[in-house]
Amino acid sequence: MKLGQFRETAVEESWPGVVTDEGIVDLAEAGSGAGVDLPATTHKVLEIWNWERKVQLAVDYAEKTGTALHAEADVETVAPITDPGKIIAIGLNYSDHAEEGDQEIPERPLVFSKFPTTVCGPDEAVEWDPNYTEAVDYEGELVAVIGEEARNVNEEDALEYVAGYTIGNDVSARDLQLADEQWVRGKSLDTFAPLGPYIHTPDEIDDIGSLDIWTEVNGERLQESNTEHLIFPVAELVAFCSRAFTLEPGDVIFTGTPDGVGYFRDPQVLLEDGDTMTVGVDGLGELTNTCRHIE
Ligand code: ZN
Repeated sequence: MKLGQFRETAVEESWPGVVTDEGIVDLAEAGSGAGVDLPATTHKVLEIWNWERKVQLAVDYAEKTGTALHAEADVETVAPITDPGKIIAIGLNYSDHAEEGDQEIPERPLVFSKFPTTVCGPDEAVEWDPNYTEAVDYEGELVAVIGEEARNVNEEDALEYVAGYTIGNDVSARDLQLADEQWVRGKSLDTFAPLGPYIHTPDEIDDIGSLDIWTEVNGERLQESNTEHLIFPVAELVAFCSRAFTLEPGDVIFTGTPDGVGYFRDPQVLLEDGDTMTVGVDGLGELTNTCRHIE
């Protein structure tokens, strides 16, 4: 199942939907026809006990009756979750990326955070003031979305708490990041967490530990790896985080970026006004955003 959020016009509130071969199912509308109450955001959908079953009832109703369906071309896709409670991010989780920055391979996951106000969706602009930061960089990443409260879970059970997976770009202001001991400022400029296009439930993915991942800037491929190279795989990250704090439905985990980020390239690649970034993960589609300077 591919769960996302959509809107018909830029002024309309977004609504949660499921992408099917027949079109995009408006879950609240289809749910009311099917007699199941479904809320107005994916975050709230994920909080419902047994949400997948209820969403499937709504989808079945829409497909059977031909109602509450929208053509993909008629709607805009926004971020699949716009108000995560937490954005957890993992630093240096591919050994090649740790080495390119002259960093030690971590002995345990290096956890940091981005604020929820960083989220933006597919095709939305990533914006910054060039007088505030002069070293903006991309980081293509696999993102896990939590679907069930997880506290102190073990690695063997950890993936049962994951609702699905999407693509993220952990956009980073390297000058701010490296000037501070805490990374949160350089990682948390508004719009610095593009997410999407959809949350893919785990049944759609053969092996989360062997997916190609790549990033292109203006069509040039600058990152290329595979999730098999993650130092700490998704299950270990969920278990590790859940020992420190409660993971809640709608929380997202950026799992780390492979080598090839712009700042450590020779010659260096720093993002500029008008640049286009595309991150792709096997089976999860592509996430494209354009860079824009603001004052
Ligand atoms: Zn990152």
